[in-house]
Amino acid sequence: MAVYPFMIFKNQKASVISRIIRHELIHFHQQLELLVLPFYVLYFLNYLFNLLIYRDHDKAYRNICFEVEAYANDDNPDYLLQRKMFAWIRRRPKKVD
Ligand SMILES: [Zn+2]
Repeated sequence: MAVYPFMIFKNQKASVISRIIRHELIHFHQQLELLVLPFYVLYFLNYLFNLLIYRDHDKAYRNICFEVEAYANDDNPDYLLQRKMFAWIRRRPKKVD
């Protein structure tokens, strides 16, 4: 979990930590683009909207526009070097079954 400027981790295997850090750093970039607080407002509203559509917490969460970008790119160590601003707007929601 990332609450700018902090990252909060549960106990994880070392192999998973770098991916989680990249995921949360993507969220930091998203938060800075939106001056932090509006990020959380949009995040929550997007979740509620998705929940109305999918009627499922996991699908609603995984299709939040910020999560779509983060999950699609947290395995790419170079992503933040090439990421364009507001990339979360251009991401298409992923079908999660
Ligand atoms: Zn995330």
